[in-house]
Amino acid sequence: MDLAAFQEAVRRTYSERDTARGIDGTFRWFVEEVGELARSLRHPDRGNRLHEVGDVLAWLTSLATLAGVDLEAAASRYTDGCPKCGEAPCACPDPGEPVASEASPPVAGKA
Ligand SMILES: [Zn+2]
Repeated sequence: MDLAAFQEAVRRTYSERDTARGIDGTFRWFVEEVGELARSLRHPDRGNRLHEVGDVLAWLTSLATLAGVDLEAAASRYTDGCPKCGEAPCACPDPGEPVASEASPPVAGKA
């Protein structure tokens, strides 16, 4: 399934509830699911990861739809290598661990 078809399937399934909940509420659910994914990554049962990645992807997709973001267009930033250095594999210096004072994402400022 391509990303446009996936976004349409999620929209068709959850659009009414997502619209009623709004962006803020949907974002909170997305973060909740990211937390569940984090817990599953520490769990020896790898099968649970498939479930949790699917949930995170679905909530991210709902959020994108509510925000007017086309998922395929967003993903296309990464289809021709790193959006920052243009290389595949990425040749950027390793950003290391995220630090609270570095609030911007690693590809900030690039279209
Ligand atoms: Zn790079």
